[in-house]
Amino acid sequence: MPLSDMHGRPLGSLRLSVTDRCNLRCHYCMPEDEYLWLPREDVLTFEEISRLADLFGELGVDRLRLTGGEPLLRRDLPSLIAALAEKPWVRDLALTTNGVLLADAVGDLKRAGLGRLTVSLDTLQPERFKQLTRFDALDDVLAGIDAARSAGFSDLKLDTVVTRGANDDELVLLVDYARSVQAEIRFIEYMDVGGATAWRPDLVVSRREMLERLSDRFGQIEAIDETSTAPAARFRLPDGLTFGIISSTTQPFCRTCDRARLTADGILLLCLYAQHGTDLRRPLRAGASRETLLNLVRAVWAGRADRGAEERLGVRERGAYIPVTVLRRDAHLEMHTRGG
Ligand code: SAM
Repeated sequence: MPLSDMHGRPLGSLRLSVTDRCNLRCHYCMPEDEYLWLPREDVLTFEEISRLADLFGELGVDRLRLTGGEPLLRRDLPSLIAALAEKPWVRDLALTTNGVLLADAVGDLKRAGLGRLTVSLDTLQPERFKQLTRFDALDDVLAGIDAARSAGFSDLKLDTVVTRGANDDELVLLVDYARSVQAEIRFIEYMDVGGATAWRPDLVVSRREMLERLSDRFGQIEAIDETSTAPAARFRLPDGLTFGIISSTTQPFCRTCDRARLTADGILLLCLYAQHGTDLRRPLRAGASRETLLNLVRAVWAGRADRGAEERLGVRERGAYIPVTVLRRDAHLEMHTRGG
């Protein structure tokens, strides 16, 4: 019997955060000056990640995504990728990166067996990149994207978080850029999750508004009719170019969510809005049997009833989800810890 949760959702994909550290300070994710980091000794070894991943594989997961923090900061990452890529149950192995370190790493990632890459890219303007991320690294990211194409990552995706007044004037330019590098771009609505302490409703550019602006420039946009558990709704421009919109804020898609998340220190989270998770590291390190761990994960998924983003829709006077004073006490509530 396939494993389903309380809303009949199957467990299908796992996002593995390999580090909570990041080499950028994006305004919607890590806007504060100081952070509480996970204790180093709590961070799972590659062998521990691999053992925990196998439990999810047994319960129906066939898609893995490595994330962070910035996953390319994790030393020797290709050896983890190689170990995951050879698992027979892994059908799709992907990685989300900010691209800063990608140019030098991409050959090793490909050789290790990484299947797909998503690069976050919020602007094409160097000064603006610096302002939005606090680092002067746009050229490195663009070089990383070029290197990914040259290394043979053909199914390349670009993710752009759109925030009003920050980068919403670049939608058309970013679509044109994606076309030029043969990538598919996905525009993400600004979410009020974890570290987004400056979130305000008026800063969200909705899917509807994005589509209006893009059709003003490109003409009639066709919605692609497909059944998928992917978060992005996909669209086609008159010239055939496709792009996606992840409308987690204005049109959430909790009912198709098949994602589990594992933080770098082994906490299992089911929803980006979850306030609590289940610690898998402690039982693993205490020597729990495979059967015990399997039952634990099975019970957690079977009891899953969250619809975090949909519930947020009903909140009046909506502001940042977690107050910064609370974030300062619990790193697990941060987006850079749970992996986005
Ligand atoms: N460092 C990698 C990167 O930059 O892609 C991976 C980690 S990052 C936390 C994963 C994703 O979370 C990115 O695509 C980022 O854009 C998204 N994200 C973080 N905070 C967000 C927010 N407040 N609203 C929407 N997306 C957000």
